[in-house]
Amino acid sequence: MGVIIKDIIQSIQAETNFEKVSDLIDNVSIDSRSLQNNNKTLFFALVGPHHDAHIYIEDLITKGVHYFAVNYIPEGLNSRANFLIVPNTLQALQDFAAYYRSLFHFPIIGITGSNGKTIVKEWLNFLLGPDYNIIRSPKSYNSQVGVPLSVIGINTYHNFGIFEAGISTVGEMVHLQKIIKPTIGILTNIGSAHDEGFADLSQKIKEKLKLFKDVEVLILNKNKTIEAFIKSDTKIFTWSTQDKTADVFIQKKVIDDHSELSITCKGLCFKISIPFTDEASIENSMHCILTMLYLKYSVETIEERVKELFPVEMRLKVKNGINNCTLIDDSYSSDFQSLKIALDFLESQKQHKKRTLILSDIFQSGLTEEELYSRVSHLIVSHKINRVFCIGETVSKFKNKFLNAISFLTTEDFIKAFENLHFINETVLIKGSRQFEFENIVSLLEEKTHETVLDINLNAISHNLNYFKSKLHPKTKLMIMVKAFGYGSGSYEIAKLLAHHKVDYLGVAFADEGIELRKAGIELPILVMNPEMTSFHSIIQYNLEPEIYNIRGLKAFLKIADEKHLQDYPVHIKINTGMNRLGFDTEILPELISVLKQTKRIDIKSIMSHLASSDVPGHRDFTLQQIADFERDSTTLMSELNIKPIRHICNTSGISNYPQAQFDMVRLGIGLYGVSNEEDEQLKLENVGTLKSVISQIRVIEAGESVGYVRRFMADSTTKVATIPIGYADGISRLWGNGVGYVTINGKRAPIIGSICMDMLMINVTGINCVEGSEVVIFGNDPSVIDIAKATSTIPYEILTSISARVKRVFYRE
Ligand SMILES: *Cc1c(COP(=O)(O)O)cnc(C)c1O
Repeated sequence: MGVIIKDIIQSIQAETNFEKVSDLIDNVSIDSRSLQNNNKTLFFALVGPHHDAHIYIEDLITKGVHYFAVNYIPEGLNSRANFLIVPNTLQALQDFAAYYRSLFHFPIIGITGSNGKTIVKEWLNFLLGPDYNIIRSPKSYNSQVGVPLSVIGINTYHNFGIFEAGISTVGEMVHLQKIIKPTIGILTNIGSAHDEGFADLSQKIKEKLKLFKDVEVLILNKNKTIEAFIKSDTKIFTWSTQDKTADVFIQKKVIDDHSELSITCKGLCFKISIPFTDEASIENSMHCILTMLYLKYSVETIEERVKELFPVEMRLKVKNGINNCTLIDDSYSSDFQSLKIALDFLESQKQHKKRTLILSDIFQSGLTEEELYSRVSHLIVSHKINRVFCIGETVSKFKNKFLNAISFLTTEDFIKAFENLHFINETVLIKGSRQFEFENIVSLLEEKTHETVLDINLNAISHNLNYFKSKLHPKTKLMIMVKAFGYGSGSYEIAKLLAHHKVDYLGVAFADEGIELRKAGIELPILVMNPEMTSFHSIIQYNLEPEIYNIRGLKAFLKIADEKHLQDYPVHIKINTGMNRLGFDTEILPELISVLKQTKRIDIKSIMSHLASSDVPGHRDFTLQQIADFERDSTTLMSELNIKPIRHICNTSGISNYPQAQFDMVRLGIGLYGVSNEEDEQLKLENVGTLKSVISQIRVIEAGESVGYVRRFMADSTTKVATIPIGYADGISRLWGNGVGYVTINGKRAPIIGSICMDMLMINVTGINCVEGSEVVIFGNDPSVIDIAKATSTIPYEILTSISARVKRVFYRE
C-alpha cells in the first residue's frame, strides 16, 4: 500500500506521541495473530462491545510492530511505540480507507442487497477478469471492518474494483458509501424477511440505497416499490422476467441441468445459456449480464463467459487429511488478498510444526509477475512455510524465489507424482484458482471416512462467548469447560480459539484431556475436575491444576508434592453445597484447614462449588441456599488460612439466572456451544454444530411394503424412501426413530421412518426434491439438539457428547 504516516495522521485526525512522521506504512492490520504484522504495519486496536484489541499491543511491540492507532495508550507503553490517538479506532480505520480510496480513479462496482452479494462479486470478477486488473473484497468482507480492509488492498496496478457492502441496521451505509464510492451500483435484491435492525421494509430499502448516492448507473431487478425510493437523478438499468417495460426483458426456460435465457434489450434479441436452474442463480447471473451489457461487452463474449459460471465456495474449510495431516481447503480462488487471509487462517489453526502450501498461478494481482511472486515469497517466509508446491506455468517460473519448492506445470502432473510426495503430520494449505481444479488434490489428501461430518462454526463460538462475557461483571474471570472433547465439538481447535480470546481458565474432567491440550500447545491454566490419584504425576509433569475434593486425595497429592519438593503448586478446593457429587462437606472443613495449615507445598488457587439446579426456576430457594453455604464455607477457609483465592460456583445457567453469584469467576460450558435453558436467551445464541450426512440410496416402495427391522414402518401409499449412513452407534438415539424425529433436506423436513439401525437410518422423502448424494442435516438449526433432547426425554448435553468419534469434525469460519 505505501502511505506516509503523516498523511495517515491527517486523514484520521490523530494526536500522536511522536514527532518523526516520514515513515512509510505498508500495511494495515486489525488481527494481532497475523504473521504479516511487521515494522511497516499500522495496527488499529479495535474495540467491540465485548473485546478490546488494546490488550494485544504489548505482544505486538515485542513482535516488531511500531505503529498503533488507539483510543488510549495502554499503561507503561508510551515510550515503547508510536501511537496515533483517536476517539474511535473503527471510525479512524474507515476514515483512512476513505482517504486511501480517494487516491484512485477507476470504475468501482458497489454491490449490496439481502442475498447474492458475494456470488455476484465473484462471478463479475471471473467475467471481467480477462480485461481488467481487478481488486475485489476478499471472501465476504462486507462489514464496517471488512469494507475498509478490502479497499486498503488497492494498489497502483489495479484498474477496476468490485466491493460488496453489508449492513445490519440504519446509519451504517453512509460510512460504507464513503469508503467504496462506487461508480456502478448493483442492488441484488431486498428480502422481505423481518430484520431486527430495521423498523420496516421502507427503512431497509432507504438505507441500502444510500450506497448508490453518487453512482453513474444502478443495476437492479425492476421493482416499483424500490424504484419509488431511488433519487430521480440516479440513472437506472433494470431487468425483469415479468415487466416488459424493464430495460432488459428475459424469458427463461429450464432444460435439464441448465437454463436458457431469451434476452431482449433495446430491440436486440439473443439467447444465453447458464449452467444453473435455480431462481437465485438466474437472478445473480442477470445482474452480471446487465453489468457486462452496460460495459459494452459484445453478445458473443457475454455468451461465451457466462456459460462457464460456477458455484462459489466462500468458506475456508479445515479437514482431516491422510497420515494425520490437517488440510485447509481454499481450492476455489487464488488471488493475493485471499492468499494473505488463508495464511493467517493457517496460523490460527496451527496444529503441526510442518506447513506445506500448494499454490497455483495467481491471477489479476495488479502487479507485475516479478513483483507479485516476490511478495508471495515474503508471505511464505514470514509464515514459516516449510515446503511449497507450485502448480502452473507462471508460478513455476518463479519457484526459485521460494525455499524448498517443487514445481509442476499442471495439476495432473502433481497428481501423477502424488505417491512420492509424502504428506505426513503437517498442515497443508491448498490454494488454487478454479481452472486448476485443486478439488482433485483435496480429494486425494482428504482422509477417507464416511460421509457424515459435524461442522463446527468457529464464528458462532466467538459470538456465544462474547454474549456470555457481556453478562459478566467487569472483574469476573471466565473459565471455559472443554471437557468431553469440548462437549463433542473438538477440544483443541476450540481451546486455541479461546486462548486467542484470552479466557482465564480451561476446565477438563480428566487429566488425559488436559495432557492432550498441553501437547497441542495450549498454555492457558487448566483445571482438572476429576483427577485420579494415578494421574497426579502426569498432572504435575504437564502443569495441570487438580481439583481437590477429599482428604484422601489431598494427602495423596501432598505425598507426591513432598517427593518432588514442590512449592506452592496450584490446586483448587471443591466444597460440597448440595450437589452431593464431589467436594468437602462443612463438617470436614476443620480437618481440611489443619492439613492445609501444615504445608507450603500447595497454593489454593481457587475455592469452588457446583450448583445442582441453576436451570430450574422452581429450585431457586435451594440454589440460593447453595450460594449462601458456599459464601459461608469459603469465607471460613479464607479467614482461617489467610488466603484470597478465586471463588467460583456458576455454570452456564448460573451465569444467566444468578448474576449476584458470579464471585470472582464463572465456569461456562454448554452456553458456549449454543445451548441455553431459557427461550429468550436461546434466541441470542448461535448454533455451533451442524451434523450432516448424505443420502446413500433412494427407492420407491408401494403401499403394504415395510421399512427396516421388525417392519416398524408400513407404507400406506407409494413412498419414496432414502437411507442415511448414520445410526445409533454414531450417537443418534433410537428414541428419535419411528416417526418421532426428522432430518432436513434443503430446509424441508423428512421424517425418520422405521427403527434407527446401528449405522443407518431411513427417511421418508416423498415430495422432497433430492437424489442419491444429496446433503441431509441431522441436527443444526432445524432440528436443533434442543428439539431432539425434548423428543427423546434427555438433555442437549447428552446429545452433543454422544456423537461418536468416528464422525469427523470440520471447523470453519464464515
Ligand atoms: C460441566 C461443568 C460446568 C459447566 O456446566 P454447563 O451447564 O455446561 O455450563 C461447570 N462446573 C462444573 C463443575 C462442571 O462439571
